[in-house]
Amino acid sequence: MSSILRTRKLALVDCNSFYVSCERLFNPRIRKKPVVVLSNNDGCIISRSNEAKALGIKMGEPYFKAKDIIVKNKVEVFSSNYSLYGDLSRRVMRTLKRFNEEIEVYSIDEAFIDLSNFPDTEVEKVGKEIRDTVLQWTGIPTSIGIAKTKTLSKVANHIAKKKQSGVTSLIGIENLDPILEKVEINDVWGVGRQLTKFYQKNGIYNAKQLKNKSNTWIKKSSNVLGSRTAMELRGIPCINLETTQAKRKSCVVSRSFGKRIEKFQELKEAVANYCLNASEKIRSESLVAKAITIFVRTSPFQRNFGYYSNAKTIDFPIATNNSIEIVKTAISILEKIFKNGYQYQKAGVMLTGLRNDDGRKNLFSSEKDEKISSLMRSIDNTNYRYGRSTLSLASAGVQKKWNMRRQYSSKIDTADFFALPRIKI
Ligand SMILES: [Mg+2]
Repeated sequence: MSSILRTRKLALVDCNSFYVSCERLFNPRIRKKPVVVLSNNDGCIISRSNEAKALGIKMGEPYFKAKDIIVKNKVEVFSSNYSLYGDLSRRVMRTLKRFNEEIEVYSIDEAFIDLSNFPDTEVEKVGKEIRDTVLQWTGIPTSIGIAKTKTLSKVANHIAKKKQSGVTSLIGIENLDPILEKVEINDVWGVGRQLTKFYQKNGIYNAKQLKNKSNTWIKKSSNVLGSRTAMELRGIPCINLETTQAKRKSCVVSRSFGKRIEKFQELKEAVANYCLNASEKIRSESLVAKAITIFVRTSPFQRNFGYYSNAKTIDFPIATNNSIEIVKTAISILEKIFKNGYQYQKAGVMLTGLRNDDGRKNLFSSEKDEKISSLMRSIDNTNYRYGRSTLSLASAGVQKKWNMRRQYSSKIDTADFFALPRIKI
């Protein structure tokens, strides 16, 4: 009964300029300077410090377009370093779980956390405590918005971003209209570009106008998702917290190459590396794959060199997460789909039909299988401790000419404490 009377209180914790904050952690020299982080192959700007925002550098802007401002203002530039960001993200999420196990990791730098157990009058204080703890334990600054629904906590988070304290609670505010009036319709969570156009055509320019529109009109003219958003703006929860992380059904590793590659040998090294990453990933989640797909393609924009793309799938005889078997199968597929005389721009591996590795033995298991799985475990442990690809397979190559362009990488391989060398005294 009490759960019905009690208001639901959800906090959205969002890391501020997350990738920039990660780089700053290991580089105190750039704490107060304008900083940007670039996407894969140093293409676009995907994270900006406040100082960089103030210079007018836009989110998603191609690097070459912003180069003049960057050079003139001595903006610090970093290539993205996802293994570092991933490690720090996991650390932030682990810290959040100290306040409530029930969190939904929404993206690499955002999570919803249920605070319904705290009294209305205390949630803002709890929010501040969460913010301080995350900052102290991980060094990452966050903004926290608290409200009755996910959509409203997103609104609260927008406001928190601009506040010194970094925390905003909308709990206990009777009339939210003055706040919602200031939120542009395209900034409302779940309202994409198409829907924005449609709403604007119908005179809806801000969150308050959507909230006050009748459900029948919204349902009739947009869809169920649209009316769900409007309900949530009214404070009626329609979108649940998804805390039980559904196990993934597939695992994809694919990249565009830093430069075009033509040789089978180079393509083989790239594919072998993607396979190692993918198999390590599924092993870490205790999954095995039923099938593997390899795909390759040339650039769709350089048709004068001839366009070619192909993919092929093979079922494993027995579901597996064994790197050696996965790489071997991948290379046998690559031999079938590779064609000479093309400039390849992208390749990838997809492991599908994932299911729990129950460690069950079957008719075909042998002592050899046992040895292989203990070898895989020691490869994973060593790489976890000493940095990725300390131990690898010969087919993964050593030169990695095909690697992404990462000219400005901070080269910190991992932020994990286990990766630090240990000294015995
Ligand atoms: Mg963020």
